[in-house]
Amino acid sequence: MVMNNPYIPNLTLIESIKEETPNIRTFRLRLIDEDLREKFDFKPGQFIELSVFGYGEAPFSISSPPHIKGRFEVTIRKTGVVTSALFSLEEGSVVGIRGPFGRGWPLEEIKGKNLIIIGGGIGIAPLKPVIECIIKDRNKYGNVILLYGARTPKDIVYKEELSLWSNYIDVHLTVDKPSPEWRGKVGVVTTLFDYIKVDPENTYAFQCGPPIMMHFVTKKLLEL
Ligand SMILES: Cc1cc2nc3c(=O)[nH]c(=O)nc-3n(C[C@H](O)[C@H](O)[C@H](O)COP(=O)(O)OP(=O)(O)OC[C@H]3O[C@@H](n4cnc5c(N)ncnc54)[C@H](O)[C@@H]3O)c2cc1C
Repeated sequence: MVMNNPYIPNLTLIESIKEETPNIRTFRLRLIDEDLREKFDFKPGQFIELSVFGYGEAPFSISSPPHIKGRFEVTIRKTGVVTSALFSLEEGSVVGIRGPFGRGWPLEEIKGKNLIIIGGGIGIAPLKPVIECIIKDRNKYGNVILLYGARTPKDIVYKEELSLWSNYIDVHLTVDKPSPEWRGKVGVVTTLFDYIKVDPENTYAFQCGPPIMMHFVTKKLLEL
């Protein structure tokens, strides 16, 4: 935490914008104040409050890992007032940020343990820094499995990263509705549990997604 007054947004530059899906973009942000920029630190899973001046403020998870210094990313789905205003901004625009807030994922606690990471849709955003921290220190963790589900193939976020991550962790993907070209699995994310083997005694689970997904994933986890 570095902000002097937690209620005052700090001016932040949108350095770059990447189109992930038709309605999801990743914004790379850079605090304008050099001192704040150097001190800014966060844990995987923490979030910021982002203001689009004149429209409002909303919470977004930081989707880049803390070992990348000087800038950070948020991955955002366009839903309403603030996110639509943000999507109308271009690279070089200035927004406000407060934070980081929240406790983050207990990464220290899972060292030496196995982990199942379950994400649905945009819910993979707060899990991305977890995966990237694990990959950075891969030998400090046991078996790591990612189960990720999206509505359709074009709604899959982080397509390039998913293929890179599969070199280090066990990645399983599914879509609810396939396109004619889709050769992967079809079904809700819980169907992926049929393809994995887990030792529940020594395994942690992190999940993020729509409430209905988390309800059924939790049921599956309790059955393991
Ligand atoms: C801790 C935390 C972390 C988050 N991290 C992320 C993240 O990493 N990425 C991300 O994309 N999101 C994230 N979210 C969700 C994000 O904060 C919301 O999507 C955001 O607040 C939406 O703001 P908005 O002003 O664009 O939408 P709003 O205008 O507030 O609209 C939100 C929803 O309400 C509906 N709505 C609005 N007005 C009406 C109306 N009059 N009648 C009916 N429905 C209406 C909209 O259609 C929309 O579905 C996170 C939320 C929390 C709490």
